[in-house]
Amino acid sequence: MDRNKAIVNSVLDLVGETPIVKLHSITKDLQGEFFAKLESFNPGQSAKDRIALHIIENAEKKGILTPGDTIVETTSGNTGFSLAMISLVKGYRCILAVSDKSSKNKIDVLKTMGAEVHVCPANVAADDPRSYYETAKRIHKETPNSIYINQYFNELNIEAHYATTGPEIWKQTEGKITHLVAASGTGGTISGTGRFLKEQNPDIKILGVDAVGSAIKKFHETKEFDPNEISPYKIEGLGKNLIPTSTDFDIIDIYEKVTDEDAALAARELVRSEGLLCGYTSGAVIQATQQYAEKGMFKSDSFVVVILPDHGIRYMDKIYSDEWMKAQGFSITRKVNI
Ligand code: PMP
Repeated sequence: MDRNKAIVNSVLDLVGETPIVKLHSITKDLQGEFFAKLESFNPGQSAKDRIALHIIENAEKKGILTPGDTIVETTSGNTGFSLAMISLVKGYRCILAVSDKSSKNKIDVLKTMGAEVHVCPANVAADDPRSYYETAKRIHKETPNSIYINQYFNELNIEAHYATTGPEIWKQTEGKITHLVAASGTGGTISGTGRFLKEQNPDIKILGVDAVGSAIKKFHETKEFDPNEISPYKIEGLGKNLIPTSTDFDIIDIYEKVTDEDAALAARELVRSEGLLCGYTSGAVIQATQQYAEKGMFKSDSFVVVILPDHGIRYMDKIYSDEWMKAQGFSITRKVNI
């Protein structure tokens, strides 16, 4: 879209073309220059607007989705918001199966956006009938004229970022980018963006961010799924207890894992140091950037772009609540060493 156009036709025309801002004090002790792509500037306040719009418009073009039909998805909240928003504008019914790790606030927002929400336990196996995957699959089967977005196993997820996020970063940085740091949940963001960037310049390093408790990093290293890697964790939208096909592991050079506490503290520090109120995975990305720097990944001429996936306002009752932090046994005073 053209941001200079004064009036756009609908909120959907505001998806993408998000800004990049330079980071200052939070990265001042690190070698290189650091820039943050703010996906909170999408109208749904997250990167998920891009994939939701891309997948829905693809289904419309194929003629398998027409107004009045139903959209079904599993979601940590952000994809749900994007699908609900698009459904309102385009006239679809939206049914979402969400994890009980999602904040109450996120779930309330989805309902406000007109979605039907089914809350499912996070800490059961993916093939358990109670899991949000199985719940969504069942609803899709039982609902005539419905499509299942299936973001973890949908190549269009990668394609959305290949078509938009990648070219935007390449253009905005005038090809100067040397490293991309991005969270890996479905893997769509890092794979699609990374694939585009590596096609422009194969030397660009694509650095993934995973959660302690997730199987993704180990799979990247060994090509084997190790159930021993899996343990409960708090960060919503990062890592996984299964291996998504919407991650192109060949594009990603290396992963870092972050803890719940470090990611939360980094998000809080990002607010104080840069005035950027971002989500939990944004904290994870900042924390991982610090860990990569400690391992000598960046040099003085590095031009590092980090993708901050969503806005922080949806986490006020979590990482931005001192009570919540204390209840997890997390520090609230320790400054992240950035
Ligand atoms: N951060 C948040 C808040 C998310 O909801 C997601 C999506 N699960 C991600 C990061 C990861 O993005 P992707 O799914 O494209 O890997």
